[in-house]
Amino acid sequence: MYHLECIECGQKYTDSEVVYTCKCGGLLDVIYDYSAIQLDMERLRTEAPSVWKYKALLPVEGKPVSIHEGGTPLYRCDRLAEKIGIKELYVKHEGLNPSGSFKDRGMTVGVTKAMELGMKTLACASTGNTSASLSTYGAKAGLPVIVLLPEGKVALGKVAQALIHGAKVLSIRGNFDEAVVLVRQLCDEEKIYLLNSINPYRLEGQKTIGYEICDQLGFNVPDRVIVPVGNAGNTAAIYKGFRELRELGVTESVPKMTGIQTEGACPVTKAFKKGVEEIIPEKNPETIATAIRIGNPVNAKKALRAIYGSGGYSEAVSDEELIEAQKDLAQLEGIGVEPASATSVAGLKKLIDSGVIDRDETVVCITTGHLLKDPEEVINISTKPITVDANIEAVRKAVFSR
Ligand SMILES: *Cc1c(COP(=O)(O)O)cnc(C)c1O
Ligand SMILES: [Zn+2]
Repeated sequence: MYHLECIECGQKYTDSEVVYTCKCGGLLDVIYDYSAIQLDMERLRTEAPSVWKYKALLPVEGKPVSIHEGGTPLYRCDRLAEKIGIKELYVKHEGLNPSGSFKDRGMTVGVTKAMELGMKTLACASTGNTSASLSTYGAKAGLPVIVLLPEGKVALGKVAQALIHGAKVLSIRGNFDEAVVLVRQLCDEEKIYLLNSINPYRLEGQKTIGYEICDQLGFNVPDRVIVPVGNAGNTAAIYKGFRELRELGVTESVPKMTGIQTEGACPVTKAFKKGVEEIIPEKNPETIATAIRIGNPVNAKKALRAIYGSGGYSEAVSDEELIEAQKDLAQLEGIGVEPASATSVAGLKKLIDSGVIDRDETVVCITTGHLLKDPEEVINISTKPITVDANIEAVRKAVFSR
């Protein structure tokens, strides 16, 4: 029904091999025989969205390791749309997955695949959410988890999750890109299963974001989908979801995939602006959005192909711009997100203002992670609570003070 194939040289690998990249170094993709896939349209139109609603399009046979991932809300955001100056804006809030980020969609598929392959230990390097998600799914599967985190650069909530779910947490004296190199070597040499987004099965789970957006719009396709970009897997995954629905005749188009980075960590945006597929890695990426503080994104080529292939765009926003968007989401729409997530909305605003995005487009912004992931950042950007004495005069005075 499916196999792995190199996106560079076309080399094929079977579904029983433990491989992450091709012998030539190229990224792998899961390739299906779409003519053999039967979609039950009646079921698609009636069942509530979730990752496993789309099992017919996922590369696993057995019982999923699942704690109800996906099925996140697609909010219509009229107050935010009015402020930004666009007609029709939706936000898909991936922070409402079980561990609080979209990584759960990839992990439920990746960890199920690890079980099928008979792997005994799981590992990842992470800017935070991958480790939180893998720890969660490792616990559900009953498999030990090892996570490598860049010391001092992971938001508090994410470290807490990895710890309570029982992972072995290594704090690496280095950045995320260095941790990725280390975990790959560890996994290769010790027969540990790697669940970073270089693992093609992870991206298969994440492509369901594309399915769900169509599903929630009554099997219509928006003009544009805007995604925060870090290691760049999600942009490629969502694009694949839309492409497949078109391939299967469910829809007729794909949205313009638009990837947003931060000015301090934007190798994908720089490559896009030059019109090339090769990124130049950044040695010292820096941004308040720690989830996407990545200088050498492993899936950059897949993401750039998604952006070019869909007629999309890429832009970088400043930390100040993303903080404003984070506050707008919270205060105009009741959507609480972590800093990286707000880049999609900050990017939309910037691209509306610069005329790249048309005000008549139907746009879906992905918010990738939950507000409570990074409470320290929120405290830092917010006005402090007012401390008052425990009497009514003091309370009244504070309530009516400016
Ligand atoms: C992982 C992550 C991203 C980046 O996703 P990529 O697939 O690595 O580009 C963005 N935001 C949050 C909150 C994340 O956890
Ligand atoms: Zn190859």
